[in-house]
Amino acid sequence: MNQQGILVVVSGFSGAGKGTLMKELLRRYDNYALSVSATTRQPREGEIGGKDYFFVTREQFQQMIEEKRLVEYAQYVNHYYGTPRAYVEQRMKEGKDVILEIEVQGALKVKKRFPDALLIFVTPPDAQELRRRLVGRGTETIEVINARLRRAAEEASGMEAYDYLLINDEIDTCVEQMHQLIQLQHNKTGYHLEFLSRMREELCHLDDR
Ligand code: 5GP
Repeated sequence: MNQQGILVVVSGFSGAGKGTLMKELLRRYDNYALSVSATTRQPREGEIGGKDYFFVTREQFQQMIEEKRLVEYAQYVNHYYGTPRAYVEQRMKEGKDVILEIEVQGALKVKKRFPDALLIFVTPPDAQELRRRLVGRGTETIEVINARLRRAAEEASGMEAYDYLLINDEIDTCVEQMHQLIQLQHNKTGYHLEFLSRMREELCHLDDR
C-alpha cells in the first residue's frame, strides 16, 4: 500500500480554538506534521519566527509567489499568508500527514490542486463564543477583533465546501474526532491508485491459472 502521507486542511473562524486543537493533536500523535506558513503580519507577543510563522516583508512574500515557492496564498485582514511548498512535499514524501491551518480562500485553492486533500472546518458551538474567545485572548485591538468577526461572517458562506465540520465544544472529543477523520482519509481510493491497478491486473490473470 502507498505510504505517502496525506494533505489535511484545517480552517475555522479566528477564535475557534484551532491553535489549541492542533497543539494537542500533535502532542498525542506523532504522524502529523504542521506546515509553518509565511506571513506579512507582525509577530504577536510570544510568537517565534520559523516556529509559529515565517515573518516576512511584502517584498519577500512577493518573491516567494514569483518563484512559485508557495502551494497557495491569500490575503486576510490586510496581510498576506501562504504555505511554503518545499516542507509540505518533503514531509508527505516521508509519510507524514501534513496539516495546513489556513483560511477559506487558500483551502479552496488546495482542494482544486489536490482533490484528495481532506478539508475540515472547525467552529465554536455558537457565534457569541467567538467574540468571547477573541476578546479573552487579549492579543488584538478591538478594531482588529471586529475586522476578524466580519471576516468570519464572510467565511461562513464557504463552509459547505469542506468535507467535515467539527464543533469545538470540548477539546478532547474534538481532537479525537479529527484524528479519526484523518486516519479514515488514508483509505480513500485516490491514495491507492497503484494498489487498485495492481489488483485489477492480478484479477485479470486469475483465469490463466
Ligand atoms: P492569524 O493572524 O490569526 O495567525 O491567522 C489569520 C488567518 O490566516 C487564520 O484563519 C489562519 O488559518 C490563516 N492562515 C495562516 N496561514 C495561512 C496560509 O499559509 N495560507 C492561508 N491561505 N491562510 C493562512
